[in-house]
Order: sequence, then structure tokens, then C-alpha cells
Amino acid sequence: MAAKGPDFARALGDWFAANARDLPWRRETSVYRTVVSEFMLQQTQVATVLPYFARWMDALPDFEALALAEEASILKLWEGLGYYNRARNLQKLARQWVAASEKPRTAEAWLAYPGVGPYTAAAIASIVFEERSAVVDGNVVRILSRLTADATTFKDGSAAMKRFYPLAQTIIEHTPTPGAHNEAMMELGATVCLKSKPLCLLCPVQRFCAGQASGTPEAFPQLVRKATVQRTVHRLWVIDHGKLLLHRRPDDARRLAGLYELPEAEGLLNCKNLSQPLTVKKRGIANERIEERIYQAKATPSLKKKVEGDKYYAWLDIDALDSVTLTGPHRKWVTELLEKSR
Ligand code: SF4
Repeated sequence: MAAKGPDFARALGDWFAANARDLPWRRETSVYRTVVSEFMLQQTQVATVLPYFARWMDALPDFEALALAEEASILKLWEGLGYYNRARNLQKLARQWVAASEKPRTAEAWLAYPGVGPYTAAAIASIVFEERSAVVDGNVVRILSRLTADATTFKDGSAAMKRFYPLAQTIIEHTPTPGAHNEAMMELGATVCLKSKPLCLLCPVQRFCAGQASGTPEAFPQLVRKATVQRTVHRLWVIDHGKLLLHRRPDDARRLAGLYELPEAEGLLNCKNLSQPLTVKKRGIANERIEERIYQAKATPSLKKKVEGDKYYAWLDIDALDSVTLTGPHRKWVTELLEKSR
């Protein structure tokens, strides 16, 4: 397969040298900056990460500062970026790194650090230490499945990554600069080999691409589609004497642990008695389509009694909402509803 050879690695490398985006973690490199950027970029686009990265570096410039920071301040810096366990793991990683007498260099050594999976380990080891470890994620799967026009139907993304890892690893053996090669693959996936409508005419590896030659590169990779699940959540908007009722997600919650949200109506009010919602928000998380209906409710004695003494409910001063970390969508909704009520 032509894509395995040195010509492919060279074509991609030349293109990247001339077209790499100017990004802050590329402009000035260090182990810390690479680790932070790789954590932030997991499941998140570059444009979203840029302002977060700048704020983070101002507040926490190195592993030592991160290791000593308060968890609340870390979550606040991460507010809106989602997947908050990344922030917690980043701090655990910093503490482990500071305490380590021998600092990790290889992908294998990085795998022993919190929040570091095979992708992140390979990214750090290759970008900072030029180890020949290939990164494989959805971007790379998309490129390699198109290059090879692989018509296998994969049950999920992990199965596809497993399949393409050996090819990715073979390709990286042909490049003198493994870090730049991995970054080039990511860059190609993010800017040229797009999910729908790949820009094949601009692609530096078009001549190696069997998917493009087939006329339907978008057909690859073939993944089994998960059935869509619809869900409706009823939430409350309760203000009492200038304070808004919020609910903090338990510390052991699978997602968004410790973050504040508008409380769910269930358990506080009889959902059957709710009338017209103040607003309805729709969002998608993985294969779930969620409709969030937010209702205005009164701070009745019975509701107050239910939340009193429960450590997960809090009445927060409307003027001090910035002092806590809300999940991204809830911050947006709360701001919007407060503006409407003014
Ligand atoms: S030629 Fe098109 S489909 Fe093939 S790798 Fe390039 S952008 Fe992707």
C-alpha cells in the first residue's frame, strides 16, 4: 500500500511545514504546555481551546503551580470546556510529575499518569521527546480508512482505532520527525480531510488515496450508527430574596462531578403541576437528544424544606454566581434568563 511508504510521510511533512497553524503551544514548547494543550484538545476543537489555554497559562504557568492550586480555581478556569475530569486528572498528573524523581519521557511511562490514554501518551512522547509512537484517534481513523478505502464496518470508534493502529505505526517509522508527523496527521484531519466534504483538491496526499480515487471518500470509515435516544429533563428556576436555587452534582457523579446546575424538578415538585416553561433548550450528548424544559417556580415552604440541609442544594446570591463553577450550558442559560428578567 503506497500510504505506508516514505513518499507519503514526506508529502505530508512538507505540507505541514508550509501550512501548520500558528498555535500557542507550537510557538513555545515545553512538556507542561504540550501536556496541557493535549488534555484541553481531547474531544475539543482548537478554536474553543485557545482562550482557555491562554488563561490557564497565565494563572498556572507550570506543573508546580498546578500541583498547588485549589481544585475550585482549576474548575473555574475550565468552566465551559466540558469533560471536567480532564482538569482534575491534569492536577493529579502535575502532582505525580512534581513528586517523580525520574520524569517520564516514553509513551509507556506517560501511560502511568492520570488521564493519559494511548493517544495522549503517544502525542506527548512524540511531540516533546520525538519518540516514534503514532497517535490514533477519530481524525487519524478517518484519514487512514479513506487512504485505504477500507470498507470494514466497525462496531465503534475504538474498534476502528485498533484496526488502523498498525498502519499508523508503520507510517511513522518513515519520518525523521515523529512529533511533527503526528501533528501533521491531526492537522490534515482537522483542516483538509473533513468529515463531510473533504477538501481532496487541496490534499497533499491525494495521490496515495484510494478513497478519493473511488469517488466517495466520505463513505469511509463505516461505523455502526447508535440508535438515537430522546430524553426530556424538567428543571426549575427559583429565586428567593435575590438568591437562585442551584444543585451541585455529587462528587462521585460519572460526569460533571462537583459542578452546579439548575435543579431538576423531580423530587422537588410534582412535574404534573408544571405549566408553561420559561424556556426550552435542546442539546445532544453522544447519541442522546435532550430537551431541557426550564420552569419558573415559587420558593414555597414545602420546596424550601426539601432543599434545606441537603448539601447538594445551594441558594446562591445572583450577584455572586461567578464565584462557583456551572456547567457550560447552564452558565449560558442562567445568564440568558437573568438578562431577560432584568
Ligand atoms: S484525498 Fe481526500 S479523502 Fe483522501 S486523505 Fe486527502 S482529503 Fe482525505
